[in-house]
Amino acid sequence: MKKGYIAEIFSSFQGEGPYAGRRQIFIRFAGCPLSCFYCDTSYARDPRPKLCNILFLGKETSIKRNPLSTNEVIDYVRELLTPDVHSICYTGGEPLFSPAFVKEIAIEAKKMQFKNFIETSGNSAIDFKSLADYFDFASIDIKLRNHRAVKEKDYDKLYSNELECIRIAVGRGIETVVKVIVLKNTPVGEIEGICKDLAGLDVKFVLQPVTEHLQGADVVPGIKELFELSEVAGLYLHHIMVIPQLHKFLGIH
Ligand code: SF4
Repeated sequence: MKKGYIAEIFSSFQGEGPYAGRRQIFIRFAGCPLSCFYCDTSYARDPRPKLCNILFLGKETSIKRNPLSTNEVIDYVRELLTPDVHSICYTGGEPLFSPAFVKEIAIEAKKMQFKNFIETSGNSAIDFKSLADYFDFASIDIKLRNHRAVKEKDYDKLYSNELECIRIAVGRGIETVVKVIVLKNTPVGEIEGICKDLAGLDVKFVLQPVTEHLQGADVVPGIKELFELSEVAGLYLHHIMVIPQLHKFLGIH
């Protein structure tokens, strides 16, 4: 049985993309190799946190010592289960940072008839491929150059891994969401290039304006820009959505 490092486990509503509003049990895996400047979960980037918080409906917090075993994680998921749960969300940090641990938990969850939903930056196609068979939903990010997720010299490698993860997900029949965080002055040509690369793939393409309360109004794209980016995406893709993060409206974790 594997053990791994988890930042927190909690139940909440999905706050992003086309599944926003769905109740999920979130397992936030610790560690992330990227460094996006807008990161809102930087506390989860530490790969070896001593403690994991189990949050019960935003009220009580139970603090557990890491690393946790797969069985312990499954037990906490069971404790958080409510009748409205849509799926288990494997998030981070970056779940692909701990692929063998994620896979073992996902297999156990499947045995219990849970749907599995992974949120990933898609930074490793090899790791994504190793666990794709156990997921029903995938939300895969495409980072733009100005996100500063990696050094400029490593950007092309990151982008090709993201594209490969998306192709693997679609090929395995996973419901696939592609999410791009957009900022003020996002180059239209960069979004067009991404959409050309995705043309022909059955994905839901989400343009998510960066969240103002985290980054300040000067980096948030205006509505005119969002119309323009959405229109250019529509030249290549069928399912295009502009959806901001919902957490701040709901005041939830
Ligand atoms: S990939 Fe996610 S967790 Fe990692 S730095 Fe970027 S926003 Fe933060």
